[in-house]
Amino acid sequence: MAAAAGVKTSPDFPVPKTMKAWVLGNPGELALAQKPVPMPRRAEALLRIDAVAICATDLEVIDHGAPALIQGGPPFNKNFTPGHEYMGTVVALGPGVDEYRIGQRVTVEIHAGCGQCKRCREGMYTSCLNYGLNYGDVDKGHRANGFTTDGGFCEYQVNNINTLVAIADGMSDEEATLVVTAGTAMYGLTELGGLIAGESVVVTGPGPIGLLGVAVAKALGAFPVILTGTRDNRLRIGRELGADHVVNVRNEDAVAAVRRLNGGKGVDYVLECSGAANAVNDAIHMVNRGGKVCLAAFPHAETPVDIAHIVRNNIYLYGIRGEGKSATHRAEAFMAQKRFDATKIHTHTFALDELPTAIRYAKERIDDAIKVVVKARGVAAPRVAAE
Ligand SMILES: [Zn+2]
Ligand SMILES: [Zn+2]
Repeated sequence: MAAAAGVKTSPDFPVPKTMKAWVLGNPGELALAQKPVPMPRRAEALLRIDAVAICATDLEVIDHGAPALIQGGPPFNKNFTPGHEYMGTVVALGPGVDEYRIGQRVTVEIHAGCGQCKRCREGMYTSCLNYGLNYGDVDKGHRANGFTTDGGFCEYQVNNINTLVAIADGMSDEEATLVVTAGTAMYGLTELGGLIAGESVVVTGPGPIGLLGVAVAKALGAFPVILTGTRDNRLRIGRELGADHVVNVRNEDAVAAVRRLNGGKGVDYVLECSGAANAVNDAIHMVNRGGKVCLAAFPHAETPVDIAHIVRNNIYLYGIRGEGKSATHRAEAFMAQKRFDATKIHTHTFALDELPTAIRYAKERIDDAIKVVVKARGVAAPRVAAE
């Protein structure tokens, strides 16, 4: 990192000039390269990345581009580094930054909106109206690391201080990468109304967000919480995270099961995390009249929806993007209090150099992989693939 006026560093955390970074070439092609270590500007801190989790959305970005948007277009062959679920140690502070200190461990949320549009002003910075406008003449200051700016599959990254979340001392690096996942579930439940004590919730789809959705809903006092899915091993983890009932939809009709488990009238809320083709129709038939459905996943194809049922029953549908309204801070508070054990969904750790192997584990769910983490340091010899 080149020294710059007003940037604070410490001899305890020396910052090199260059770093290892994975760079996206053509679709599906990642290459390990050397890049300059970026420098924090006003309202930014430089993190040494200590751990980064692989998210299904990273796989989308690497293979298909969207929802990443680099220089106004697809992210391929633009020297772009993906990865967005990372945590690390603050090693340099931009001019005027005193909200964090060098040496502090933090995790990150993804979206720093422009800070000046209507949605940013409302706390909905994940829906910033200037999304992706962070370059050239249209530079509005928007950042979504790993989507519109460089992300975390590297050794150092700059973050707007608004995206930093201080973590409890006892929280491991791996667990800290899961704060943003829990934060996404928290944001969904916030948008549905937030205070769900004593209200009934179905979570559909036991992926990382769904599983932590169960945990967050329970921590917020929801009852009962019902988890639906197709894989018994994941449903079992859902039980460990607090689900009162689990339904394997291969064995039983999901809508009928939910109605049976909750007295016939349906539930107050559905958090849809499966992205299955019939998910929206199932969800609107799982909620009661006036119930609310949060869509946190999406199918790839357009699907017909029973709109008449939605209208006749006053059902509310919410689409959410990411983790707005500081939901990650509230999720971290639950985790710091050990209200649930998010580490139950962390299954594998690889060295940063082994990212392609780590991605293969995540994508093909090798060895029942759920959350796969890579670390630039502190990981011994590469694991032998168990296949
Ligand atoms: Zn993610
Ligand atoms: Zn904005």
